[in-house]
Amino acid sequence: MSTIPRRKFIQLSAVAAAACMAAPGREARADELPHLSEDDPMAAAMKYTHDASKVDPATRNNPAADQNCANCALIQGKDGEAWRPCQIFPGKAVAAAGWCSVWAPKA
Ligand code: SF4
Repeated sequence: MSTIPRRKFIQLSAVAAAACMAAPGREARADELPHLSEDDPMAAAMKYTHDASKVDPATRNNPAADQNCANCALIQGKDGEAWRPCQIFPGKAVAAAGWCSVWAPKA
């Protein structure tokens, strides 16, 4: 049997629900995140690399010439930071000079 009074439980539940609704809008700071490893299974599946210059342009789905994480539509964080959050790899920071097969041009 719970020792938390019913009224207190309802109050805590309301606070927790409000926190859950507020959290998705918060963009993680790059310096709070561990760096994405090239060996991460998801990263490997997306052909992620820390160095976009090592990617053969002929293997890309998108023919745009200059492709790296810094000019990808899915990058987050601040311009100029070496490691930044990415919408494809939540909870990790990707190299601004990196690349993966999901790269998309900014609008
Ligand atoms: Fe980099 Fe874009 Fe791939 Fe994210 S989705 S890892 S920003 S190329």
